[in-house]
Amino acid sequence: ATNAAMRTSMKYQDKPLGDKHCATCMQFVPGKTPKDLGGCKIFAGDTEISPTGYCVAWAAIP
Ligand code: SF4
Repeated sequence: ATNAAMRTSMKYQDKPLGDKHCATCMQFVPGKTPKDLGGCKIFAGDTEISPTGYCVAWAAIP
């Protein structure tokens, strides 16, 4: 499932922005393996977040 409203408002894209991508974001919830789709703590119900995606809410893992 995807959260279309959040994807639009946060300008989610399925490609990285430079070296910024979901796998290096503190909000990412990884899938079974590092290459699998996962979730995002602020994208409720979205189970298809790409580890190599990106959105404007990106924040580095501290
Ligand atoms: Fe990816 Fe954005 Fe979620 Fe970070 S906040 S994991 S960049 S969708």
